[in-house]
Amino acid sequence: MKAIVKHGSKAGAVAIEDVEKPHYSQNEVLIRVRAAGVCGSDVGAYLGKPEYEYIDTPAILGHECAGTVESVGTDVKSVEPDDRIALQPGSPCGACYQCRTGEPNNCPDRVPAVAAGGFAPYVVAKPDQVVSVPDDVPIEHAAITEPLAVTHRAVVTKGGVSPGDSVLVQGPGPMGVFSSLVARAAGADVVVTGLPDDAVRLETLSDLDIETVTINSDTGEPSPEALCGRYATRNGFDVAVDATGVESGVGTAIEATRDGGTIVVIGIPSTPVTINMAELVRSEIDLRTSHGSVTEDFFRALELLRSPDALPIDSIVDPADPRRPNDAFESFVRAETVKPLLDIDELQTV
Ligand SMILES: [Zn+2]
Ligand SMILES: [Zn+2]
Repeated sequence: MKAIVKHGSKAGAVAIEDVEKPHYSQNEVLIRVRAAGVCGSDVGAYLGKPEYEYIDTPAILGHECAGTVESVGTDVKSVEPDDRIALQPGSPCGACYQCRTGEPNNCPDRVPAVAAGGFAPYVVAKPDQVVSVPDDVPIEHAAITEPLAVTHRAVVTKGGVSPGDSVLVQGPGPMGVFSSLVARAAGADVVVTGLPDDAVRLETLSDLDIETVTINSDTGEPSPEALCGRYATRNGFDVAVDATGVESGVGTAIEATRDGGTIVVIGIPSTPVTINMAELVRSEIDLRTSHGSVTEDFFRALELLRSPDALPIDSIVDPADPRRPNDAFESFVRAETVKPLLDIDELQTV
């Protein structure tokens, strides 16, 4: 079978190669992948960023994927061949404290989701890693269940966003874009900020009637205070989601959040961040983080995918040619697209 494979830890070095169809054991499921989304982490691995050096290469990239069950091991009773499913990537150990108390995303022994083998026609999973897709959700939409689950956890579970809240989302990468849509679906008024380089992604959001603001990279204008004055009703945003992944993101979120409000950091800055702790304590701002997702977030994400009005997914996903993966990665790097989507059947026609 043809797969998109990353070699070594240097930049580039991604190729389509013939690899062996994976074998599955009696308690595993063989999945026929139909569609797969390109994640920032796939692009990070493609670029050879230091955060992804831990990936054991050669590795088949891709972890946001959906398809059908091809066959199951003799011990598997929960799914059957032809079931439509989304993959919940990254295996937690199932035995540690976090796994047993509903936080498998924080399992210290979990296998990271990245490079789960989704950019290939077949992938093997444990039965509890497959989540059934409702009939009215197209399988290519179900491919982005995972990033949607991750932002559901950030916005709803950790951010506690409720109807009528004003929400600031900083950084219109895929996580920021999905966060803004999840927050709006939860009944919030949402504003997304980005930089001039994010023009295409911000435009995608304004086309969906989400308020967007371009921050001047030199002056930092409009300031957090100015944003609050214009968009927040309670002397600051109730919730700020920082999806920038840069050092200044948390600081501006603190300035924009109302006293007693909540900040959820989902971007991962590559340098240490200095924050004004005194300001944070005196204003009793709840600074939280969110990473990954749990099965409940998967179910919630699939529910959201059932209502195209709440989540206009066709406007967000961008069909890309899996036979030219480097092009898909490069257009992501240039911020020309939010969520490239690969039709894995096409990969086999190389
Ligand atoms: Zn992802
Ligand atoms: Zn565990």
